Amino acid sequence: MVRSAVTIVGASLAGYWAAETLRRDGFEGRISLIGDEPHAPYDRPPLSKKYLAGDLDDDRLALTTAEKLADLQLDLRLGCSATGLDVAGRTLEVGGAAEPFDGLVIATGTRCRTLPGTAGLAGVHTLRTRDDAAAIRDALADGARRLMVVGAGFIGAEVASTAIGRGVEVTMVEALEAPFGRVLGVEMGAVMADVHRHHGVDLRTGVGVEEVLGDGCVAGVRLSDGATLDVDLLIVGIGVVPNTEWLEGSGLTLDNGVVCDGTCLAAPGVVAAGDVARWPNPRYGELMRVEHWDNAVQQGVHAARRLLQSDEEATPFAPVPWFWSDQYDRKVQLAGRPHPDDEVRVVAGSTAEHRFAAFYGRDGRFTAALGMNRPRQVMQSKGLLEAGSSWDEALAFAAEWD
Ligand code: FAD
Ligand code: NAP
Repeated sequence: MVRSAVTIVGASLAGYWAAETLRRDGFEGRISLIGDEPHAPYDRPPLSKKYLAGDLDDDRLALTTAEKLADLQLDLRLGCSATGLDVAGRTLEVGGAAEPFDGLVIATGTRCRTLPGTAGLAGVHTLRTRDDAAAIRDALADGARRLMVVGAGFIGAEVASTAIGRGVEVTMVEALEAPFGRVLGVEMGAVMADVHRHHGVDLRTGVGVEEVLGDGCVAGVRLSDGATLDVDLLIVGIGVVPNTEWLEGSGLTLDNGVVCDGTCLAAPGVVAAGDVARWPNPRYGELMRVEHWDNAVQQGVHAARRLLQSDEEATPFAPVPWFWSDQYDRKVQLAGRPHPDDEVRVVAGSTAEHRFAAFYGRDGRFTAALGMNRPRQVMQSKGLLEAGSSWDEALAFAAEWD
């Protein structure tokens, strides 16, 4: 149990909520919040949406007000990286110096994968930070007219939607047969494809990028099917990798994230939370790492509390994950953990009208609910998932809808 001081590495969503929770729960010791970005904790979801559209100022991204941040009485160190950790020696390396720690929260998130051969080429961007988003927003404002997004995952879909809203020509390239195929399966992936095409995106599936063309600045892209397209701006959204390199040799188990126990504890007095954390969710009986907003908040809270608890008091972190994604005028939400091969049943509305709720099930179990402009039904479904409802029980519940 931690008594004197807590250091939090990663001054973003999970890190901020860990700090806020420690104070709210009465922890009076020193809390150091260390972040390598120069900005006070801010929210990422608007970066691909309103902020990218130019409809939101920098200060509206903040996770909290300057006054509330000051009230937390943090030792806030921005523009500062943790570069090493020695769990046995209980020291953290920051700015070349070893600092002792009592409790530690690891909340270093993820960073974008990049496309080989594009380093240093102007007009090629990834999107993770506020600075990344500002650069893309400015390129759009400066007249980029032909945008290609590589990867039809969350970044690709949301950037495409925002750019279409700004009157830009958008081509979206996805290696799989359907957008979100690995998350939603082929049938619902096809619905997502239809949404993008309906709004004018030139969606090309089953193709990859063969070569990015341009001398100093992107000018075009050659695809694996032989097509060559002129491009002013290339956004690469091909997934992320957890920021764990600084933890190599620390004594922690690193395997596609920081591996924790079911309570978010990675080692005595060391917890992990958010996109970087991988833990056995007892609800699903598997190690999982979740890359969405709600999980970073809930896990930041849970992991901070874990530091203040004895082993006997600790409880497992067992959420039903959920996320939302805004694309065009549609709010897409998913609660649960579907498998691409699950049975899918549309239980309300119509996929053709892009307003529906669909259930996923496997072996008599209800596994997930997907909604498009159906927030009430998704949240009710999340309750059913939390209660462990069977497939038949969930279908019977949904029969009352519409
Ligand atoms: P991060 O937000 O990645 O923060 C980690 C922080 O740690 C970063 O500031 C990083 O620079 C810093 N750091 C890394 N290494 C070090 C180090 N060694 N020393 C010090 N600091 C370090 N989720 C949804 O559910 N819905 C959405 O609509 C949605 N939209 C999104 C839009 C965008 C553009 C992005 C990028 C993400 C979006 N997400 C969304 C996902 C959500 O924002 C993430 O799940 C969440 O930000 C994860 O929070 P985190 O604190 O774990 O990690
Ligand atoms: P992502 O959602 O994992 O999607 C990446 C997509 O790119 C996948 O469909 C992937 O297909 C595809 N891909 C991979 N390599 C490719 C290649 N070489 N060529 C073409 N396609 C390729 O990741 P992301 O969209 O980059 O998002 C980054 C992070 O931000 C994620 O953590 C995401 O959760 C988060 N984010 C979340 C939201 C939200 O929740 N609303 C919004 C924005 C961002 P495979 O599956 O075959 O690899």
